[in-house]
Amino acid sequence: MKAKKIVILGGGYGGLVTSRKLGKLLREGEAEVTLINKHDYHYIATQLHKTGAGTATDDKITIHIPNLIQTDKIRFKKGVIDSVDFNSQQVHLENGEKVSYDYLLLSLGFEVDTFGIPGVKENAFKIRSFRSTKAIYYHLLHQFEAYKEDRDPSRLTFVVAGAGFTGIEMIGELAEAIPGMCKIYNIPVSETRIINVEASGSVLPGFDQKAIDYTSNYVKKYGIELMTSTKILECTDTAIKLDNGTTLPSRTLIWSGGVRGNTLLEKLGLPIEKSRVKVDRHLRVQGMKNVFCIGDAARFMKNETEALPPTAQVAIQQAELCAPNIIAALRGESLREFQYSHKGTVASIGNTAAVGNVFGFKINGLFAAFMKQVIEARYLFVLGGPTLVIRQFSKLAKPYLKTAPQNK
Ligand code: NAD
Repeated sequence: MKAKKIVILGGGYGGLVTSRKLGKLLREGEAEVTLINKHDYHYIATQLHKTGAGTATDDKITIHIPNLIQTDKIRFKKGVIDSVDFNSQQVHLENGEKVSYDYLLLSLGFEVDTFGIPGVKENAFKIRSFRSTKAIYYHLLHQFEAYKEDRDPSRLTFVVAGAGFTGIEMIGELAEAIPGMCKIYNIPVSETRIINVEASGSVLPGFDQKAIDYTSNYVKKYGIELMTSTKILECTDTAIKLDNGTTLPSRTLIWSGGVRGNTLLEKLGLPIEKSRVKVDRHLRVQGMKNVFCIGDAARFMKNETEALPPTAQVAIQQAELCAPNIIAALRGESLREFQYSHKGTVASIGNTAAVGNVFGFKINGLFAAFMKQVIEARYLFVLGGPTLVIRQFSKLAKPYLKTAPQNK
């Protein structure tokens, strides 16, 4: 029998864990698996705020994809997906290449949602990918360098939009990193401002009151200005307009105001709800037998009204079932239903504090920061076993660059 073709789009947590599992479970000659990703590296999405603040080396955040998969069983192809023809079962790449499939997995992740707020798309920095967060870091260094010349306070006014999970992790990291940069550029910390603007009434909306209080007090202790119940209405490259009538002179808006599904998938005519692809209990795109979708791009309903959130934990658990389900489909066996088991959530606030809950226990402070590291270690373990955990954890934090690269 001819080997079936399985094609996986996206090398994030979902795509990689599925690839690894397929490599383990498929019988010899049963299928050819191809993983396609835009870059030849995977980035640790849960640590991108560290790249933005410059507190982790690039090789701590990015891992070469061929090092994570069994390349004798899984073919890796670097390419940008342009479209998919579901009738002829072909993926079209931007370079004109066409890749045929019998079974397709869409694991293309999330996109940042700017809600059409004027100027945000064009002027704000996004915590979206390794490259987009690297751009934040270089921009920060440029602002310090330029401030030495013109002493324009807007250069050292750093604004983070949104105090959800992403915003708080970014704020916590900046609170630790900015004093280090001040030291290098010989600028008093008192000449910098870090501001967090949040539309709802508190930081970490949805978290319990204790976590909210702990986080607010912790970041305020570091001199962070919290502006809750305040909405960003507009931004230019030098100013941010708020709904309380003020305008903040700032050249740095880091946007963490929300996420959405992948826009490419919307163009493909798939069943979409709230910008994500509707999937059935077996993780297949609704109404399709041979196309699966998992992770941030997928809308899997945990009950009649609520979908699972776009988190690494969900993507990994889905990938662990998606691989055996793809194999079951190609063998003509019955597929299993996805059951999500929530282990907890921990948001870091810099390196030495965090808040969240793990297995139903509310935690904060240093212990929570330790648990965050345990969670990160577990993700690495799933991606590359104990060797990857040891390798990544043995890499040191980054010494700050003394100058910004000139080709920004
Ligand atoms: P979010 O939607 O959770 O938070 C965005 C925040 O921005 C909200 O609090 C909102 O009120 C605020 N906001 C929106 N528009 C605004 C405006 N115009 N002005 C001011 N504030 C505004 O988005 P997120 O934090 O990016 O998280 C997205 C998802 O990813 C969540 O499900 C989260 O749990 C998950 N996540 C998980 C991890 C992790 O597990 N390590 C890390 C980051 C994100």
